[in-house]
Formats: sequence, structure tokens, C-alpha cells
Amino acid sequence: MRIGNLAGRLTLFTGDAPVRAVDVEKESGGRFAADPQAVFAHWDDFLAWAAGADTAGAAEFDAADLGAPAPAPEQVFAIGINYAEHAAESRFDRPDRFPPVFTKFRSSLSGPVTTVRLPDGGRTDWEVELVVVVGRTARNVPAARAWEYVAGLTVGQDLSERELQLSGPAPQFSLGKSYPGFAPTGPWLVTPDEFADPAVLRLGCAVNGEQVQDGTTADLLFPVAELIEGLSAVLPLHPGDLIFTGTPAGVGLGRSPQRFLAPGDVLTSRIEGIGELRQSFVTG
Ligand code: ZN
Repeated sequence: MRIGNLAGRLTLFTGDAPVRAVDVEKESGGRFAADPQAVFAHWDDFLAWAAGADTAGAAEFDAADLGAPAPAPEQVFAIGINYAEHAAESRFDRPDRFPPVFTKFRSSLSGPVTTVRLPDGGRTDWEVELVVVVGRTARNVPAARAWEYVAGLTVGQDLSERELQLSGPAPQFSLGKSYPGFAPTGPWLVTPDEFADPAVLRLGCAVNGEQVQDGTTADLLFPVAELIEGLSAVLPLHPGDLIFTGTPAGVGLGRSPQRFLAPGDVLTSRIEGIGELRQSFVTG
């Protein structure tokens, strides 16, 4: 099942080429609210309803109207250094017990097709990432049961302004990665049952059509299940929370020569079985 946010309303998506949209609040006769974030508090009820939902009235839509599938999470977790080759290109040691965790502040979230302002004087970089949306309150969840707590998966970009991120005596990850529009997600959330193996997904991104990242989530040093185990051992994860799971190799900071996003660039980010994000960049 694919669900998401069309013009601020909870939407079920069906079919391919073209994908069509069903408005959940209308189709359910008001049983589920239009607010895309509210559904995660009723996730099991929603899954049961959606399995039998009538999609005959599904309509085409404009991708520019898609919003973030989970636009107002209580918590956004982002994981650093979670692929070995990316750790090497970033000159960080590979984490042993658990990877670094920071946040992308909620105001940085956006939908999948956007225009992003580049901060003045900055070096803004790309990081395609698998993003997990939590479906149930998770506390002390063992890895073996972790996928039961996942509502679905979506594509994310952990856009990162490296000057601010790496400035000062301790890393400034959260702030450098939270400019407005620096956390595009979408195009929708796909439930784990839709994948042959939700733990093995190819992901990548391209700048102006040139592929710059190409990896697989099979290479995550700490896979989704271990991230949920490790995070939920410290604090509760809430329905609708996001986990940006880390980026594979190929970021601009790690290239020789280094390369950063410039006004006029178009960044497309893809994950197999989910879909694509598209960001255009302008001066600040
Ligand atoms: Zn990242």
C-alpha cells in the first residue's frame, strides 16, 4: 500500500503510469481525518480499512501538489556514518556500538518536488537516504521484532550545508542539516509488505542527470531493525516519527575535487520500489 499527502490531505495511491489518488477522509466517510500526520495514531485501524477501500474513483494529480507523507512528526532521527564507504570518504571512524544520531528539525521537512534556497556562502551537499516512518509506539524493541513497528518507507534527502555542519569545537550536524527545505521526503510511504525484502533496496541520486550516489540498503552498517532496537532502548519512538537511516558513498564532500550544489542544479533521488524526489536549487 502507498499512502501520502496530496495538497495537505491524507491520500491513498493506486496503480502505475499514471498513479492515481484517493482522498481518505472522503472515501472513509470521515472515519479517518484529512490530516496526513493523524493517521499514524490509528495505524492498525487504517491498514484494516485501506485493505478493502474502494479505489474506483481514484483520480490523476499533479506531483507538485504532493507534501511530506509524515509532515509533522514528534521526533525526527537522523543517523550518521551508517555505510562503510561513506565513513571512509568522510574521514570518520566506522562506529562500533551505535552510529551517531542527530535531528533534522521539523521545520526543514518538505514534500518530494520542491525548490530549495541555498544558504549564502555555504557548501550544500546531497545525501540520499531511506527514511523509516514509525507505525507503533516502540520502547525496548528487539531487532527481531522491529519491522512490526514500521508503518512504511519513503525516500529522503538529508541536504547538508557543510560549512555550518562541520564548524566549531563539536559537530553542528542538526543545525547544518535543517535549513528550510533541507529534508524533502516522499513521494509517498510504501508499507513493508510491498517489497520482496524491505531491508535490501537500491538507492541513489543524480545531479543534472549525472549519477552521483548508487548504493543498497543491504550495506547499512546498522540496518533498520538494529536502529529501532538501539533508539528504542534509550527513548520511546512514537507513531509517525521519522528515521533518516544514513547515506551511502558519493556525497560531494567526499569527491575529488569536491562538488557542491549550485543555483540551477536539479537533484533527483530514487529508491527502488518507492519513487523519486526532485529538488531544484536557487540562490539564497
Ligand atoms: Zn545523512
